[in-house]
Amino acid sequence: PLALLKDPSLLKTDALINGQWVQGASRFDVNDPSTGRKLADVANLGPADAEAAIAAANAAWPAWRSKTAKERSIILRKWFDLLMAHQEDLGRIMTAEQGKPFAEAKGEVAYGASFVEWFAEEAKRVNGETLPHFDNNRRLMVIRQPIGVCAAITPWNFPLAMITRKVAPALAAGCPVVIKPAELTPLTALAAAELALRAGIPAGVLNLLPADGANSIAVGKVFCASDTVRHISFTGSTEVGRILMAQSAPTVKKLALELGGNAPFIVFDDADIDSAVEGALASKYRNAGQTCVCANRFYVQDGVYDAFVAKFAAKVQAFKVGNGFEDGVVQGPLIEDAAIDKVQRHVDDAVAKGGKVVAGGHRLPGQFFEPTVVAEATADMLCAREETFGPFAPVFRFKTEQEAIDAANNTEFGLASYFYSRDVGRIFRVGEALEYGMVGINVGIIATEHVPFGGVKQSGLGREGSHHGMDEYVEMKYLCLGDI
Ligand code: ADP
Repeated sequence: PLALLKDPSLLKTDALINGQWVQGASRFDVNDPSTGRKLADVANLGPADAEAAIAAANAAWPAWRSKTAKERSIILRKWFDLLMAHQEDLGRIMTAEQGKPFAEAKGEVAYGASFVEWFAEEAKRVNGETLPHFDNNRRLMVIRQPIGVCAAITPWNFPLAMITRKVAPALAAGCPVVIKPAELTPLTALAAAELALRAGIPAGVLNLLPADGANSIAVGKVFCASDTVRHISFTGSTEVGRILMAQSAPTVKKLALELGGNAPFIVFDDADIDSAVEGALASKYRNAGQTCVCANRFYVQDGVYDAFVAKFAAKVQAFKVGNGFEDGVVQGPLIEDAAIDKVQRHVDDAVAKGGKVVAGGHRLPGQFFEPTVVAEATADMLCAREETFGPFAPVFRFKTEQEAIDAANNTEFGLASYFYSRDVGRIFRVGEALEYGMVGINVGIIATEHVPFGGVKQSGLGREGSHHGMDEYVEMKYLCLGDI
């Protein structure tokens, strides 16, 4: 698929440190999950390279933070324009290495680029405050300054957007960045870095270090232990988030963590069922169920349970599964075998405990899994507690509103949640009762660049996107001026 790139020079396989492409001491393979074929071998960087990148970022910091907000804004805007000008190529690289359908990949390019556009604008709004003085001889102010060298560690499910959502506000605020992309999807990240150079982001301000699994752990340790790195933003599993938090304790590092979810999707008796089915399809099966905001547990009220399950299963059965470059494919491969095994384990466990398969249920040849719906799910099943991260929808039955709220909140996670109701009182009651950072009401897709994305409980710390997303990358400083 990569032979079809309009601009083949976007296919970079070396690392970017201090504006130079670096081969690295060793290389690792990047494969196409649809075909299993090797796409490229990519520089595999280790701890010494991470130290070099951090030093380069730190050296580039004074000049970058000294630019005016408008100067940084103009450069970021150019990066946005270039990302959009190369939307098709970036989408092609993404589908090749990640598997999501080409249309979805192009959609992610637009979504990922939108953070660059948004924070290019927000760069000009990092405002301070003046405060009333407590003494006529003094004047009090608050200024907001860039925090310093920022590290980003990102996952494979959104190979571009998870990078831009961190990097754009950091750059806008005046911080340099060192990025460690997911080992399964470094090519999209490298193409975006090449476009950052073309946009005029100076050497050292944006560094990108691909690394295999073992080196990712080693590089993560260097980020955490470094006194120069002032902030780490991570998106990935709760397990790795905990490791990074523990490793960051000695340097008391500021952290933004966007971790796992276990999203409930509740359909009340008074819901518009057709709309709920559409929302459920989008929320569950986008990216083959591999997003942290994908609905993981469907709770449907008794009165509409059978109707919802029948309509939902019929639509799911009609899905075309296959290589993301094929016309009409709505569900691509899963990212790796381990992901397929987890879906199969959750489905088998549900069936063993009385669940009824109403769509799918099986692995397909290659790295594909049938889009699956299991009715009569119960609280003792694995899928009630664990995030499946795949195309499996267990549907639980409930009777009362309180029962649904209690079940929805019965998890250590608190990222996204969804519910469908046309009753205005219920909308407020349930919206306020759900212990989640985000609630979709009568809608299955909620993310966009100008809203605060993030979770509560063990789903993480901090918010990304919106004007709040800039807060991570600036420190407040109080200035007290005397002798007026
Ligand atoms: P996922 O389950 O989405 O693959 P992970 O949390 O395993 O999520 O990985 C997300 C990112 O974290 C990837 O870039 C991966 O290389 C990186 N990573 C995994 N383990 C560690 C670690 N111990 N320290 C630092 N980064 C890590």
